[in-house]
Amino acid sequence: MCQGLPEFYMSWARSDPLYQEYFSDCQLLISPQSVRHSWSSADFKRQPAKLIIDSGAYWYIKNDRNPPPPKDVFFRQQKMAEGSHCPTTICHFDMPLPPKESEIGTSYRRIESTIGNAYEFMELYTRANFPSNVQCLGVIQGYDPASVKFCAQEISRMGFDRFGLGSLAGLYFPEEIISRVKAAIEIVGTNLHIFGISNTKLMLKLSKLGISSFDSSRPMLAAIYNTVFYSKPFKSFIVEEAKNKIRRGSILQEPLPCRCPVCKDNPSVLMSTGRKKYHNLRAVHNYYHLVREIRGD
Ligand SMILES: [Zn+2]
Repeated sequence: MCQGLPEFYMSWARSDPLYQEYFSDCQLLISPQSVRHSWSSADFKRQPAKLIIDSGAYWYIKNDRNPPPPKDVFFRQQKMAEGSHCPTTICHFDMPLPPKESEIGTSYRRIESTIGNAYEFMELYTRANFPSNVQCLGVIQGYDPASVKFCAQEISRMGFDRFGLGSLAGLYFPEEIISRVKAAIEIVGTNLHIFGISNTKLMLKLSKLGISSFDSSRPMLAAIYNTVFYSKPFKSFIVEEAKNKIRRGSILQEPLPCRCPVCKDNPSVLMSTGRKKYHNLRAVHNYYHLVREIRGD
């Protein structure tokens, strides 16, 4: 990868394609909710190039569930990291802010909990004595640039190897996202991961801010909605047979020339719909094009 461009982590769940078997440089982000309880990195026949083990905190907000004790999440993540021999990052269990939370007091208490959890995480992490390929990531939360800076200052004092910025997934305006990212960079520098970015245009904008990495499930989500990406220039199409009620984008009548591993084998499979097998193959193709676009290959 060219210097200065962010690393891309593909969000992965257990029935998804093993992207690393198609692309040896593929990096994955895995949440506890995305794998079986007994799953560990040793279950991968081929390791990804790098791995982020997320805390899955956003899942509790999204599904309106009470979060578990942070130490339970830590032990689960520790189990997930077992057998990993690629560079692996474990994220502390944060308290994401719901996108529509308007009560500042509630948001502030969640930021305080995030900071408290980070202290507890660091104690457990230090005691666990992980192998040298494992690093820890402190998650910054905030509802505006000032609160992002406050949280970043607190988190930056605790000795984390890396930092991440959360609570951006539900934000509608890219300018708001960019201003929070800039606020975090002011405090922790560009050693910053951005969680859960789904908008492809925004990914390309963020790439220019000098952040170190971000993750997305967009190639798979698009595949499920029968959407096919192409790069250089970046375009998305809906496959002709799709029964999507809302058709966003142009219809793809037939596959375009493509050098991805799926199209090299059988490009017409991109046009098939309705089964996880087809979603997975389309996701591999979409991953190839999104990464190509981000990297400017
Ligand atoms: Zn392809």
